[in-house]
Amino acid sequence: MNKTIALIRGDGIGPEIVEQAQRVLNKVAELYGHRFSYTDVAMGGCAIDQYGDPLPESELKKCLASDSVLLGAVGGPKWNDVPGTMRPEKGLLRLRAGMGVYSNNRPAKIWPQLADASPLKRSIVDEGIDFIIVRELIGGIYFGEHKTETVDGKTTAIDVLTYGEHEIERIGRIGFETARKRGKRLCSVEKSNVLDSSRLWKKVMHRLAEEYPDVELSDMLVDNCAMQIVKNPSQFDVLVTENMFGDILSDEASMITGSIGMIPSSSLGSSACGLYEPIHGSAPDIAGMDLANPIGTILSAAMMLRFSFDLPREADAIEKAVAAYLDAGYRTADIMSEGMKQVGCRACGDIIIESLRKE
Ligand code: NAD
Repeated sequence: MNKTIALIRGDGIGPEIVEQAQRVLNKVAELYGHRFSYTDVAMGGCAIDQYGDPLPESELKKCLASDSVLLGAVGGPKWNDVPGTMRPEKGLLRLRAGMGVYSNNRPAKIWPQLADASPLKRSIVDEGIDFIIVRELIGGIYFGEHKTETVDGKTTAIDVLTYGEHEIERIGRIGFETARKRGKRLCSVEKSNVLDSSRLWKKVMHRLAEEYPDVELSDMLVDNCAMQIVKNPSQFDVLVTENMFGDILSDEASMITGSIGMIPSSSLGSSACGLYEPIHGSAPDIAGMDLANPIGTILSAAMMLRFSFDLPREADAIEKAVAAYLDAGYRTADIMSEGMKQVGCRACGDIIIESLRKE
């Protein structure tokens, strides 16, 4: 199989972690007889420095012309003071909107080897943590009007939250379809006791439920959900929610599984071309120090093989190689614990590559 992958190395630790994921992909290509070619795309702070724009149109076009996009992370203190429309994160929002990826899927799964890294009590962890958050990605308050006005000396800031029925329906379907492939339980998370957009959300989810009689739908208010994720995470199979709630809940969910450095994500729309990225940021505090954990990015590459290229065996091989690395006691600094062997970002990549086997 021949595929073109747009690589957005980005800022901070981005280039280091993307390099390891690229090396893993190359090894997979060698083992399975595929050909992956890469197009480098500038986005984020590095694009601001180079082009004065966090995602120039020409760079977005390169992504749209590729079979999928693998992103490290963008941003950092150097660009904190640039105007709002020019911030590195704007590049990311434009990329998601430009690619039309309206569904962000984040697994929250505990690796048994890292059970002690979870901040939750062992008794809760032992019940199992294995759920997915399906988050609406290109609507809601992040994409509504934002303005700050001063009238008669009083300043007011306004952010508009809008959801159309069709936006809710298409993400709802992804939620139901995802649940159908897993434990067949979907929890729809909203704030229908306060927000009109949430009341519409709930109505659409219940209408869709009639088309998916094999999936059990439940509703949960977002504040309760934030509590339940730490109190009893084993109750969840698939959560579906709007953009801002999903942003916050998926960070919370990532923390209970141990390390932010281990978690991949996929963002998909109506075509096979997806955006794959670890859930963490550019970690400027450890950039260039060979301390970053590249596994979130490596597992994102595995998700790309599974969901965009339909290569499940190759994706399984990467996940097994990661498990073998953990089983052998190797840890980057972020998940280091007593008795384990500490390695840097590159050595982590080396060991995972050595552990890769053709299934
Ligand atoms: P962060 O995720 O970059 O870092 C939070 C903490 O986790 C830091 O201590 C960092 O060292 C650690 N960490 C993160 N990833 C790690 C990894 N792979 N290995 C080891 N340790 C890791 O969050 P932040 O500090 O809030 O943000 C830093 C910058 O990243 C900001 O400019 C922010 O806007 C940006 N950001 C970008 C994205 C993205 O590109 N998708 C997402 C979130 C934040």
